[in-house]
Amino acid sequence: MKVGVIGGGVGGLAAGYEFAKAGHTVELFERAPFLGGLASTFDVGGGRLERFYHHLFLSDVTIIGLLDELGLKDRLIWEDSKVGYFTHGRIYPFATATDLLRFNPVSFIDRIRMGLVTLYIQRIKNWKRLEDTTAAAFMRKWAGRRNYEEIWEPLLRGKFGRYAEQIAMPWMWSKFATRVASRKSLLGREQLGYIEGSWQVLIDALEQRITEMGSEVRTGVGVSRIETTDNHVTGLTIADSDGTEEKRDYDAVLATVPSFLLPRLVDLPEDYLSKVSTIDYEGAIAVIWVMNRSLSPIYWLNIADADIPFLLALEQTNLVPPSVYGGKHILYTADYVTPDDHRWGLSDDELIESYVEHLRKINPEFDLSWVERTYVHREGAAQPIMTTHFSDKIPPNKTPVDGLWLAAMSQIYPEDRGTNYSIRQGQDVARAMMAEAD
Ligand SMILES: Cc1cc2nc3c(=O)[nH]c(=O)nc-3n(C[C@H](O)[C@H](O)[C@H](O)COP(=O)(O)OP(=O)(O)OC[C@H]3O[C@@H](n4cnc5c(N)ncnc54)[C@H](O)[C@@H]3O)c2cc1C
Repeated sequence: MKVGVIGGGVGGLAAGYEFAKAGHTVELFERAPFLGGLASTFDVGGGRLERFYHHLFLSDVTIIGLLDELGLKDRLIWEDSKVGYFTHGRIYPFATATDLLRFNPVSFIDRIRMGLVTLYIQRIKNWKRLEDTTAAAFMRKWAGRRNYEEIWEPLLRGKFGRYAEQIAMPWMWSKFATRVASRKSLLGREQLGYIEGSWQVLIDALEQRITEMGSEVRTGVGVSRIETTDNHVTGLTIADSDGTEEKRDYDAVLATVPSFLLPRLVDLPEDYLSKVSTIDYEGAIAVIWVMNRSLSPIYWLNIADADIPFLLALEQTNLVPPSVYGGKHILYTADYVTPDDHRWGLSDDELIESYVEHLRKINPEFDLSWVERTYVHREGAAQPIMTTHFSDKIPPNKTPVDGLWLAAMSQIYPEDRGTNYSIRQGQDVARAMMAEAD
């Protein structure tokens, strides 16, 4: 079989590798000049760094298995997570059950209640029974108003903005499940993993294996049209960066693009079209600060202060040593943003300037002289919005167009999207496509 794969993120690359291993011919097209999509990296101080922060949980078994298969398992490093919560002008450690018990912005009774709710959620096995509940309604009811307003509402608002009240409870349930599975013991600290050398190590290995097996991976080449005849895929029209178009023939096509982009590439029957068109995505904006000092000892600092315009201050060099980046300390300040957010209209300099005063709230000693360089990364399709009864809204991977399959982040549920799940989905869909072709 000759397969065209659209998109060179980890999902497309994992699928391409499956096809190539099974002896099929793959041509993979990535419109960006680099591979990796949301997990792509760039050079900082001689090391590679993800455009958007990335780590793994112990439960990310598919990506761990793939790294093993590629001979890269010894590149995985695991560290105790250092999680904090910034509220009322100070940082609260938020990594263990003891931290929760010491979290005094809520009363002791509320802390106990929060602990019990956490245990209750962890005991729920069948997430399907949560499908008609929103995370906001569930937490208000079970954790109580004060816990909701102090902890969950700022996190939901920060992550989902105007969608905060609509997010389905299974999404939050899966967050708990992932994090619990990433602890070595019930009361122990969560372990977070990183790939020594960055996600680029995995991306490079997949590209190399695919090409070694005689298939092709092309960057800077976008797909402008999926060609069909009588509702059957026949090929792709590709366009390079100067707009030169070319038609290529394929027996089957796998699209790994955000689902709302699929209708721009191919005509779809009404049912399927309405599914792919109605799932909203949020974007993400990350400012990366390359500094000569550390801002805080925390790796993942949730920001629960509505006046601070970012949801997260993540200090990469509290997970990975600064020596990886030429001795520099790396901080991401990141936020998820809806398409109407005013920050899309700000220049990089305006954005950075508007964030500076807020870093001083986290560490009053922070000074611009600490900052040696900044980078801004923006992505329009970073997080699908999962509303109630979401599993009924997900378009099937096999589209109604014969030979055309879709493996997008919005089809991953109830888990929150992540490289582990894009890889799992890419592998599963590639196997299903091959099974159908047999
Ligand atoms: C802020 C942020 C933090 C994250 N943190 C983590 C984390 O800690 N751990 C983790 O595991 N995951 C994390 N993720 C999620 C992870 O990055 C994604 O789940 C994963 O990378 C998605 O891979 P994908 O291949 O499914 O999609 P994508 O990476 O979106 O790849 C799709 C590719 O298709 C390309 N494309 C689109 N249209 C066309 C076209 N017409 N022609 C050719 N190419 C096209 C795009 O350029 C893109 O490269 C994070 C994501 C974000 C945004």
